[in-house]
Amino acid sequence: MSRDTSCIFCRIIERKIPSHIVFEDDTVIAFEDINPQAPVHMLVVPKRHIPEIHSMTEADRELVGHLFFTAKRIADDTGLDAKGYRLVINNGRGAGQTVFHVHLHILSGRRFTWPPG
Ligand code: AMP
Ligand code: ZN
Repeated sequence: MSRDTSCIFCRIIERKIPSHIVFEDDTVIAFEDINPQAPVHMLVVPKRHIPEIHSMTEADRELVGHLFFTAKRIADDTGLDAKGYRLVINNGRGAGQTVFHVHLHILSGRRFTWPPG
């Protein structure tokens, strides 16, 4: 599995740094965000190091679907569906991406505005 030793999420996947893991399977992991922007804030992350959505290829089609389906499964398991939840992916520095390993934010537990900030 391709990993980047300087990547904070690869280090979480390898248990080199601690995190509160909420879900894991062969290809994805989900854990709580260290700096939550809502009462519920989790990240769903592919185990393979892929820097950003824009660097994905056709071969990652199934993995992208699995990221979203995992978010839906976590929402089901934690009762988020009733409250509503927001899924966010920041792609590139200009859009606010700070960790260059693909991740899907799950945010819930407060009201969200549109357009997003
Ligand atoms: P983004 O700005 O979309 O790249 O999101 C990166 C997210 O990773 C931010 O919400 C950070 O709070 C979160 N983050 C950074 N380091 C950690 C960590 N060690 N454990 C959990 N979440 C982290
Ligand atoms: Zn990584």
